[in-house]
Amino acid sequence: MRSLRANEYRDTWAGEARKDGVGQELRVAGWVHRRRDHGGLIFIDLRDRTGLLQLVFHPTTAPEAHEQAHRLRSEDVISVHGTLVARDDATVNPDLPTGEVEVQVAEFELLSDAETPPFQIDEDGPVDETLRLKHRYLDLRREGMRGNFELRHEVITAIRDHLNAEGFLEMETPILTRSTPEGARDFLVPSRMNPGNFYALPQSPQLFKQLFMIAGFERYYQIARCFRDEDLRAERQPEFTQLDMEMSFVTEEDVIELCDRLTQSFLAAGGVEITLPLERVPYDEVMLKYGSDRPDRRIGMEIADLGPAFEGTEFKVFAGALGGGGVVRGFKAPPGEYPRKRFDELTEKAQSLGAKGLVWAVLEEGGAWRSPIAKFLTPEEMADAAGLLGAAEGDVILAVADDAKVAARVLGDLRLALAPEDVEGHDVFWVEDFPMFEWSEDEQRFDAMHHPFSAPRGDLDADPGTWRSRNYDIVMDGLEIGGGSIRINTPEVQQRVFDALGLPPAEAQERFGFLLDALKYGAPPHGGIAFGLDRIVALLAGRDSIRDVIAFPKTSTGADPLTGAPAPVDEKQLRDLGLRSAARPGPDVR
Ligand code: ASP
Repeated sequence: MRSLRANEYRDTWAGEARKDGVGQELRVAGWVHRRRDHGGLIFIDLRDRTGLLQLVFHPTTAPEAHEQAHRLRSEDVISVHGTLVARDDATVNPDLPTGEVEVQVAEFELLSDAETPPFQIDEDGPVDETLRLKHRYLDLRREGMRGNFELRHEVITAIRDHLNAEGFLEMETPILTRSTPEGARDFLVPSRMNPGNFYALPQSPQLFKQLFMIAGFERYYQIARCFRDEDLRAERQPEFTQLDMEMSFVTEEDVIELCDRLTQSFLAAGGVEITLPLERVPYDEVMLKYGSDRPDRRIGMEIADLGPAFEGTEFKVFAGALGGGGVVRGFKAPPGEYPRKRFDELTEKAQSLGAKGLVWAVLEEGGAWRSPIAKFLTPEEMADAAGLLGAAEGDVILAVADDAKVAARVLGDLRLALAPEDVEGHDVFWVEDFPMFEWSEDEQRFDAMHHPFSAPRGDLDADPGTWRSRNYDIVMDGLEIGGGSIRINTPEVQQRVFDALGLPPAEAQERFGFLLDALKYGAPPHGGIAFGLDRIVALLAGRDSIRDVIAFPKTSTGADPLTGAPAPVDEKQLRDLGLRSAARPGPDVR
């Protein structure tokens, strides 16, 4: 770590004491990590951010300090004065960078007493998460957590260094703003000065970064906080951090080429090497092969279209699907233990995901299928299907006959259900050529697949269901780590997209008038992307949850057990805001 200005507390970082300093007097300060009493000697591991250093309290050479050290407890804060000495060969600790030395303590000062912490700081074992969040400052003291935030810092530094060198400006955008359309629910903030009116917290800086391009800034980025009021699934937080970027006079080639190199830089900061250029795969292809637009390709089990094997089949389920415009698709899973019960579970899972059923088969010697439906199929059909999957004896075939969307979703999820726990290596690639819209059965209208500011491609006079979008996503190990697009830069095309979304001009003007206006004053072609920073750091840290890389995250109910937020407020505060609460606040979330 950087040099230290010597003061009354310390002149040396604990974790940086080394053999070349032996014989020198030094001062170190930090927390009592662990204490051991050994036949008259007291040993303490002292911890600061840089690591651990062993202190020795000797009853004869420093009787007073030794006597006082009896009272030290874990997490007490002390400042120590002593001499750095070499350890005997027998007591050298090769696991510790400071393991060749220790401090012979002459005197120390107890700076602050610690109560017994509610969980062990000196090990990274599992602790109830609510307890960790309630005492987050203690949780953050643990080595693994500290490592996560050092890594987070390294990743952000690599991003800043890279983008600064490429001429990007780091700029801020407002937190108190108007509703922005990333498709989630907004967090609202009542305006005291304009009673009855509300700010919305930004779901992303999308419109502001486009305005930056219209303003001529050419290249912008921001480590931006975004807010989305969604039900919290495992990988969501109500506030999260994006690396947000935008560039002018660019095509997708420019953005992708730059982001390839950027991604290489920030992944390298986390110890992951990738080779460029990253592969670019069309959306339709990933949906067919993996049943997901953010597939984990490392687990194999590619999905294949089995239609050709069953053309003209007499098996009603397959014939019905194929005749009705649907598909028969499947994948092969490697041989393994598949008791009947496992297939029943997989069938139930497929049904819960909307499939009518699941076809399963174990490939036997000579190409025959052991399967409840084997009797309905001809030997040629079974052999052809196995051939399309490249399946060999012992392999398991899972197939679904349904419409293409359902088949993709169900098989995509079953792939993940069958994935091995540990997969080696990393897989980073682009998905591009997305459809512009998705038809919402519930609402009977189109929804933008990315957002309504992505530029459409294709014949805009044709059915919007056929439009494609100039949108690209970057996927790592089965997670979308970033997504962006080339944007619309004329008010006419922007209005066409609003029309397709069923947003009447008056409403479009009301919500996005400022953007439509700005587009009239000379908007350069522009495009950008946002990377999910929390997710990237969690991946690099090997953590399952982004909560482990966010210093003060919320629980799955959006609560913060540390501060007790969200919490009720005084009647007077509400009155000032012109509000009255219709809900009675629940119990304190702590
Ligand atoms: N604003 C978009 C998002 O948050 C990213 C982008 O299009 O740049 O997903």
